[in-house]
Amino acid sequence: MPACIIVSPAEASAPVPAADRLHVVDPALPQVSVTDLGVTRGDGIFEVLGVVDGHPQAVDAHLRRLAVSAAMLDLPPLDLDAFRAAIHQVVAAYEEPHREYSVKIIVTRGVEGSGVATAWVLAFKSTDDYAAERQTGVSVVLLERGYPHDIASRAPWLLAGAKTLSYAVNKAVLREAARRGAQDVLFTSSDGYVLEGPSASLIVKHGTHIWTPSTSQGILRGTTQAAAFEYFASAGFAPSEVLLRIDQLWDADAMWLTSSGRMLVPVRELDGRPVPIDRALTDAGNAALLARAE
Ligand code: PLP
Repeated sequence: MPACIIVSPAEASAPVPAADRLHVVDPALPQVSVTDLGVTRGDGIFEVLGVVDGHPQAVDAHLRRLAVSAAMLDLPPLDLDAFRAAIHQVVAAYEEPHREYSVKIIVTRGVEGSGVATAWVLAFKSTDDYAAERQTGVSVVLLERGYPHDIASRAPWLLAGAKTLSYAVNKAVLREAARRGAQDVLFTSSDGYVLEGPSASLIVKHGTHIWTPSTSQGILRGTTQAAAFEYFASAGFAPSEVLLRIDQLWDADAMWLTSSGRMLVPVRELDGRPVPIDRALTDAGNAALLARAE
Protein backbone atom coordinates (compact mmCIF):
# COMPACT_ATOMS: atom_id res chain seq x y z
CA MET A 1 0.00 0.00 0.00
CA PRO A 2 1.50 3.42 -0.97
CA ALA A 3 2.15 5.63 2.01
CA CYS A 4 0.41 8.91 2.69
CA ILE A 5 1.86 11.36 5.15
CA ILE A 6 -0.05 14.18 6.81
CA VAL A 7 2.25 17.16 7.42
CA SER A 8 1.11 19.12 10.47
CA PRO A 9 1.93 22.82 10.40
CA ALA A 10 4.76 24.29 12.45
CA GLU A 11 3.47 26.41 15.33
CA ALA A 12 5.61 29.39 16.25
CA SER A 13 4.46 29.17 19.91
CA ALA A 14 5.44 25.51 20.37
CA PRO A 15 8.08 24.54 17.80
CA VAL A 16 8.17 20.80 17.06
CA PRO A 17 10.91 19.23 14.88
CA ALA A 18 9.85 18.59 11.28
CA ALA A 19 10.13 14.80 11.67
CA ASP A 20 7.65 14.83 14.58
CA ARG A 21 5.07 16.60 12.45
CA LEU A 22 4.85 13.81 9.87
CA HIS A 23 2.08 11.30 10.47
CA VAL A 24 1.78 8.21 8.30
CA VAL A 25 -1.86 7.44 7.49
CA ASP A 26 -3.72 4.93 5.35
CA PRO A 27 -4.56 6.59 2.00
CA ALA A 28 -7.45 4.16 1.54
CA LEU A 29 -9.26 5.64 4.56
CA PRO A 30 -10.92 9.09 4.75
CA GLN A 31 -8.42 11.65 6.03
CA VAL A 32 -9.78 15.05 5.01
CA SER A 33 -12.74 16.88 6.54
CA VAL A 34 -15.83 17.56 4.43
CA THR A 35 -15.47 21.21 5.47
CA ASP A 36 -11.87 21.50 4.29
CA LEU A 37 -11.60 24.49 1.96
CA GLY A 38 -9.52 22.42 -0.43
CA VAL A 39 -12.58 20.21 -0.92
CA THR A 40 -15.35 22.81 -0.74
CA ARG A 41 -13.64 25.62 -2.69
CA GLY A 42 -10.64 24.09 -4.41
CA ASP A 43 -8.72 26.61 -2.28
CA GLY A 44 -5.21 25.25 -2.09
CA ILE A 45 -2.11 24.33 -4.05
CA PHE A 46 -0.31 21.21 -5.14
CA GLU A 47 2.79 19.76 -6.75
CA VAL A 48 3.42 16.46 -8.48
CA LEU A 49 6.96 15.21 -8.81
CA GLY A 50 8.29 12.17 -10.60
CA VAL A 51 10.16 9.30 -9.00
CA VAL A 52 12.44 7.18 -11.21
CA ASP A 53 14.43 4.21 -9.91
CA GLY A 54 13.72 5.37 -6.37
CA HIS A 55 14.98 8.94 -7.01
CA PRO A 56 12.47 11.74 -6.42
CA GLN A 57 13.27 14.30 -9.11
CA ALA A 58 13.71 18.08 -8.92
CA VAL A 59 12.64 18.13 -5.26
CA ASP A 60 14.07 21.60 -4.60
CA ALA A 61 12.48 23.07 -7.75
CA HIS A 62 9.09 21.63 -6.77
CA LEU A 63 9.39 22.92 -3.21
CA ARG A 64 10.37 26.37 -4.49
CA ARG A 65 7.33 26.40 -6.77
CA LEU A 66 5.11 25.20 -3.90
CA ALA A 67 6.36 28.14 -1.81
CA VAL A 68 5.69 30.57 -4.69
CA SER A 69 2.13 29.22 -5.06
CA ALA A 70 1.60 29.48 -1.28
CA ALA A 71 2.71 33.11 -1.30
CA MET A 72 0.47 33.92 -4.28
CA LEU A 73 -2.54 32.49 -2.41
CA ASP A 74 -1.59 34.22 0.88
CA LEU A 75 -1.28 30.85 2.59
CA PRO A 76 0.95 30.74 5.69
CA PRO A 77 4.67 30.21 4.90
CA LEU A 78 5.41 26.49 4.53
CA ASP A 79 8.07 24.52 6.37
CA LEU A 80 9.75 23.16 3.26
CA ASP A 81 12.07 20.91 5.30
CA ALA A 82 9.04 19.05 6.62
CA PHE A 83 7.74 18.54 3.07
CA ARG A 84 11.19 17.42 1.87
CA ALA A 85 11.33 14.87 4.70
CA ALA A 86 7.80 13.68 3.88
CA ILE A 87 8.70 13.18 0.20
CA HIS A 88 11.69 11.02 1.11
CA GLN A 89 9.63 9.11 3.66
CA VAL A 90 6.82 8.21 1.21
CA VAL A 91 9.41 7.17 -1.38
CA ALA A 92 11.17 4.96 1.19
CA ALA A 93 7.81 3.40 2.10
CA TYR A 94 6.66 2.81 -1.50
CA GLU A 95 6.64 -0.94 -2.12
CA GLU A 96 5.02 -1.29 -5.54
CA PRO A 97 7.28 -2.69 -8.29
CA HIS A 98 7.13 0.39 -10.57
CA ARG A 99 10.23 1.94 -12.08
CA GLU A 100 8.37 5.25 -12.41
CA TYR A 101 5.67 6.73 -10.20
CA SER A 102 4.70 10.10 -8.76
CA VAL A 103 4.51 11.94 -5.46
CA LYS A 104 1.80 14.51 -4.92
CA ILE A 105 1.99 17.31 -2.35
CA ILE A 106 -1.28 18.98 -1.39
CA VAL A 107 -1.71 22.05 0.80
CA THR A 108 -5.19 23.47 1.40
CA ARG A 109 -6.39 26.49 3.35
CA GLY A 110 -7.66 23.95 5.86
CA VAL A 111 -10.94 23.35 7.64
CA GLU A 112 -13.15 26.42 7.25
CA GLY A 113 -12.65 28.82 10.15
CA SER A 114 -9.60 27.01 11.56
CA GLY A 115 -6.97 29.18 9.89
CA VAL A 116 -4.72 26.11 9.86
CA ALA A 117 -3.57 24.65 6.54
CA THR A 118 -4.13 20.97 5.78
CA ALA A 119 -1.22 19.26 4.02
CA TRP A 120 -0.32 15.79 2.89
CA VAL A 121 2.14 13.97 0.66
CA LEU A 122 1.11 10.85 -1.26
CA ALA A 123 2.91 8.42 -3.57
CA PHE A 124 0.84 7.08 -6.47
CA LYS A 125 1.12 5.49 -9.89
CA SER A 126 -0.50 7.47 -12.69
CA THR A 127 -2.97 5.62 -14.90
CA ASP A 128 -1.49 7.36 -17.97
CA ASP A 129 0.97 5.33 -20.03
CA TYR A 130 3.79 7.87 -20.31
CA ALA A 131 6.25 5.39 -21.82
CA ALA A 132 3.86 4.82 -24.75
CA GLU A 133 3.28 8.58 -25.19
CA ARG A 134 7.04 9.20 -25.37
CA GLN A 135 7.13 6.81 -28.32
CA THR A 136 3.95 7.62 -30.24
CA GLY A 137 3.58 11.30 -29.37
CA VAL A 138 0.26 13.07 -28.78
CA SER A 139 -2.24 14.88 -30.93
CA VAL A 140 -2.85 18.39 -29.57
CA VAL A 141 -5.38 21.16 -30.18
CA LEU A 142 -4.97 24.88 -29.53
CA LEU A 143 -7.60 26.27 -27.17
CA GLU A 144 -7.85 29.89 -26.12
CA ARG A 145 -7.58 30.53 -22.41
CA GLY A 146 -9.41 33.83 -22.80
CA TYR A 147 -6.80 36.12 -21.23
CA PRO A 148 -4.14 38.33 -22.84
CA HIS A 149 -0.55 37.13 -22.42
CA ASP A 150 0.20 39.82 -19.79
CA ILE A 151 -2.66 38.76 -17.50
CA ALA A 152 -0.33 37.97 -14.57
CA SER A 153 0.80 41.59 -14.25
CA ARG A 154 -2.62 43.09 -15.16
CA ALA A 155 -4.67 40.97 -12.78
CA PRO A 156 -2.49 39.07 -10.29
CA TRP A 157 -5.60 38.22 -8.24
CA LEU A 158 -6.53 35.70 -10.93
CA LEU A 159 -3.55 33.65 -9.70
CA ALA A 160 -2.35 32.83 -13.20
CA GLY A 161 0.89 30.93 -12.73
CA ALA A 162 0.04 29.51 -9.28
CA LYS A 163 -0.40 25.74 -9.16
CA THR A 164 -3.80 25.80 -7.47
CA LEU A 165 -6.12 22.88 -6.76
CA SER A 166 -8.72 24.45 -9.07
CA TYR A 167 -8.00 22.21 -12.06
CA ALA A 168 -11.61 21.74 -13.23
CA VAL A 169 -10.86 23.90 -16.28
CA ASN A 170 -7.60 22.03 -16.94
CA LYS A 171 -9.64 18.80 -17.02
CA ALA A 172 -12.55 20.28 -19.03
CA VAL A 173 -10.20 21.24 -21.87
CA LEU A 174 -9.07 17.60 -22.17
CA ARG A 175 -12.69 16.59 -22.75
CA GLU A 176 -12.93 19.33 -25.39
CA ALA A 177 -9.74 17.98 -26.97
CA ALA A 178 -11.28 14.48 -27.03
CA ARG A 179 -14.40 15.87 -28.72
CA ARG A 180 -12.06 17.24 -31.40
CA GLY A 181 -10.31 13.87 -31.76
CA ALA A 182 -7.13 14.94 -29.92
CA GLN A 183 -5.46 13.91 -26.68
CA ASP A 184 -4.05 17.11 -25.28
CA VAL A 185 -4.24 20.89 -25.36
CA LEU A 186 -2.07 23.94 -25.75
CA PHE A 187 -3.56 27.08 -24.24
CA THR A 188 -3.22 30.28 -26.24
CA SER A 189 -3.68 33.85 -25.05
CA SER A 190 -6.46 36.04 -26.43
CA ASP A 191 -3.78 38.12 -28.19
CA GLY A 192 -2.20 35.26 -30.12
CA TYR A 193 0.58 33.82 -27.94
CA VAL A 194 1.19 30.18 -27.04
CA LEU A 195 1.19 29.45 -23.30
CA GLU A 196 1.27 25.91 -21.86
CA GLY A 197 -0.76 22.73 -21.69
CA PRO A 198 -3.30 22.07 -18.91
CA SER A 199 -0.68 19.93 -17.16
CA ALA A 200 2.48 20.45 -19.20
CA SER A 201 4.96 23.00 -20.48
CA LEU A 202 5.73 23.39 -24.18
CA ILE A 203 9.18 23.14 -25.76
CA VAL A 204 9.64 24.00 -29.45
CA LYS A 205 12.65 23.31 -31.67
CA HIS A 206 13.48 25.65 -34.53
CA GLY A 207 16.87 24.82 -36.07
CA THR A 208 19.41 25.16 -33.28
CA HIS A 209 16.96 27.13 -31.15
CA ILE A 210 14.99 25.55 -28.36
CA TRP A 211 12.18 27.74 -27.05
CA THR A 212 9.66 27.62 -24.25
CA PRO A 213 6.96 30.24 -23.66
CA SER A 214 8.05 32.82 -21.10
CA THR A 215 6.74 32.43 -17.56
CA SER A 216 6.04 36.19 -17.54
CA GLN A 217 2.74 35.17 -19.18
CA GLY A 218 1.16 33.71 -16.03
CA ILE A 219 2.16 30.12 -16.72
CA LEU A 220 3.95 27.62 -14.52
CA ARG A 221 7.72 27.46 -14.37
CA GLY A 222 8.08 23.83 -15.52
CA THR A 223 10.58 21.80 -13.54
CA THR A 224 10.84 19.23 -16.34
CA GLN A 225 11.23 21.95 -18.96
CA ALA A 226 14.09 23.38 -16.88
CA ALA A 227 15.79 19.98 -16.66
CA ALA A 228 15.21 19.40 -20.40
CA PHE A 229 16.82 22.79 -21.11
CA GLU A 230 19.95 21.60 -19.27
CA TYR A 231 20.01 18.56 -21.54
CA PHE A 232 19.44 20.62 -24.71
CA ALA A 233 22.21 23.07 -23.72
CA SER A 234 24.60 20.15 -23.15
CA ALA A 235 23.64 18.81 -26.60
CA GLY A 236 24.70 22.10 -28.26
CA PHE A 237 21.36 23.89 -28.55
CA ALA A 238 20.53 27.43 -27.45
CA PRO A 239 17.50 27.15 -25.12
CA SER A 240 15.61 30.31 -24.21
CA GLU A 241 12.31 31.59 -22.80
CA VAL A 242 10.44 33.62 -25.41
CA LEU A 243 7.10 35.16 -26.27
CA LEU A 244 5.98 32.64 -28.88
CA ARG A 245 3.27 33.61 -31.37
CA ILE A 246 0.90 30.91 -32.59
CA ASP A 247 2.12 31.34 -36.19
CA GLN A 248 5.67 30.42 -35.07
CA LEU A 249 4.45 26.90 -34.34
CA TRP A 250 3.60 25.94 -37.89
CA ASP A 251 7.17 25.62 -39.17
CA ALA A 252 8.67 24.12 -35.99
CA ASP A 253 11.10 21.20 -36.44
CA ALA A 254 9.71 19.48 -33.34
CA MET A 255 7.58 20.18 -30.29
CA TRP A 256 7.26 18.49 -26.92
CA LEU A 257 4.94 18.63 -23.95
CA THR A 258 6.90 18.21 -20.73
CA SER A 259 5.82 17.38 -17.22
CA SER A 260 7.14 15.53 -14.23
CA GLY A 261 5.54 12.17 -15.04
CA ARG A 262 5.72 12.48 -18.78
CA MET A 263 9.24 13.84 -19.36
CA LEU A 264 9.45 14.77 -23.11
CA VAL A 265 6.35 13.72 -25.04
CA PRO A 266 6.51 14.67 -28.72
CA VAL A 267 3.58 16.50 -30.30
CA ARG A 268 2.78 14.58 -33.48
CA GLU A 269 -0.19 16.64 -34.65
CA LEU A 270 -1.35 20.20 -33.94
CA ASP A 271 -4.89 21.22 -34.85
CA GLY A 272 -4.95 18.36 -37.36
CA ARG A 273 -1.62 19.30 -39.03
CA PRO A 274 1.28 16.81 -38.75
CA VAL A 275 4.25 17.91 -36.63
CA PRO A 276 7.64 16.20 -37.23
CA ILE A 277 8.89 13.97 -34.42
CA ASP A 278 12.63 14.16 -33.79
CA ARG A 279 13.05 10.55 -32.67
CA ALA A 280 16.76 10.71 -31.84
CA LEU A 281 16.49 13.92 -29.80
CA THR A 282 13.33 12.74 -28.03
CA ASP A 283 14.93 9.45 -27.01
CA ALA A 284 18.22 11.03 -25.95
CA GLY A 285 16.42 13.76 -23.99
CA ASN A 286 14.19 11.24 -22.22
CA ALA A 287 17.17 9.02 -21.42
CA ALA A 288 18.87 12.03 -19.81
CA LEU A 289 15.77 13.01 -17.85
CA LEU A 290 15.13 9.46 -16.65
CA ALA A 291 18.76 9.06 -15.55
CA ARG A 292 18.61 12.02 -13.14
CA ALA A 293 19.71 11.12 -9.66
CA GLU A 294 17.62 14.00 -8.29
N1 PLP B 1 1.98 23.65 -16.63
C1 PLP B 1 0.93 23.21 -15.93
C2 PLP B 1 -0.36 23.95 -15.96
C3 PLP B 1 1.05 22.05 -15.14
O1 PLP B 1 0.00 21.63 -14.40
C4 PLP B 1 2.28 21.35 -15.12
C5 PLP B 1 2.46 20.14 -14.32
O2 PLP B 1 1.53 19.52 -13.89
C6 PLP B 1 3.33 21.83 -15.91
C7 PLP B 1 3.15 23.00 -16.64
C8 PLP B 1 4.67 21.10 -15.96
O3 PLP B 1 5.35 21.25 -14.76
P1 PLP B 1 6.42 20.17 -14.27
O4 PLP B 1 7.34 19.92 -15.41
O5 PLP B 1 7.10 20.84 -13.15
O6 PLP B 1 5.67 18.95 -13.87
